Amino acid sequence: MQANSFFSTSFKKTLTSILGNHLEITEIKHITGGDINDAFALTINDGSQLFMKCNKKDNISFFRAEATGLKAIAQTDTIATPHILSIGTEDSSVGRSFMLMEFMKQKRRISNYWETFAHQLAAMHQAPTQHLISAGGYGFIENNYIGARPQINSARQNWTSFFRDCRLEPQFKDAEHYFQSTDIKKIIRLLDQIDHLLIEPEHPSLLHGDLWSGNVITGNDGKAWLIDPAVYIGHAEADLAMTELFGGFPQTFYAAYQETSPLQPGYERRRDLYNLYHLLNHLNMFGSSYLSSVKRILREYIP
Ligand code: ADP
Repeated sequence: MQANSFFSTSFKKTLTSILGNHLEITEIKHITGGDINDAFALTINDGSQLFMKCNKKDNISFFRAEATGLKAIAQTDTIATPHILSIGTEDSSVGRSFMLMEFMKQKRRISNYWETFAHQLAAMHQAPTQHLISAGGYGFIENNYIGARPQINSARQNWTSFFRDCRLEPQFKDAEHYFQSTDIKKIIRLLDQIDHLLIEPEHPSLLHGDLWSGNVITGNDGKAWLIDPAVYIGHAEADLAMTELFGGFPQTFYAAYQETSPLQPGYERRRDLYNLYHLLNHLNMFGSSYLSSVKRILREYIP
């Protein structure tokens, strides 16, 4: 698709002014694969490429939160994230918001891709977190988004309270209309028992927060790069659990992660409870096709 036929003149002007140096966009191609935004590959007249995501103007907060999350990950100096060039909106009153970033075109992975990624992720989970949370151990400096839905990051002094108050409870509230009274009783019991079902981590970790395979991209160096985070300070095993939700990563990844950072005993018993948060979020975002998975996990913990 050619740029001229797709974007308004005012939008092209906005983008051209960001590029500067007499650079121009010569081609815009739509990229599929995302759930939330429209994604594009932009070709510039010097031969380089940029990646752009667009959404409604009002949703510029999605991109600001994403940029904050990518920056928090980048600052750990453990695993790469794409560089962001600009976040902005079209000049016209109704229009789009956009985020321009470094384009990843390399598809060849280094030979020990999964081991390297696992070691880098474990290092990210070991990185200091005090500068990212003002009032306590778990949460984040600001709220952000999980997919297109708000994610609350109010600080809590312990992990289990944080996971109950800021992860499961808000999702259950929004999904209340899907449940019958017997389910509601189970949900209340589940929330009451969180302190027994989950454990405190050895230390708080910066989490990617939405770590499924679609949010790990091969960078131009052939290594795994992280995109599209929903960061917060939490228990590292919540990130690991999410990697297993939609298919999982190869065994080499899990073995290498554990080499650097062994999981606490009983992780397998806690895994589905962490993923209940994401399944509830999918239920709230995409509808009832996720209800049976949610109820299955509910039954697993509260038979
Ligand atoms: P959404 O925010 O809608 O979930 P994604 O961030 O998942 O969108 O990106 C949509 C598509 O663009 C995916 O196929 C993803 O692999 C690809 N993509 C994401 N970031 C880049 C990038 N920096 N360079 C090239 N392709 C990218």
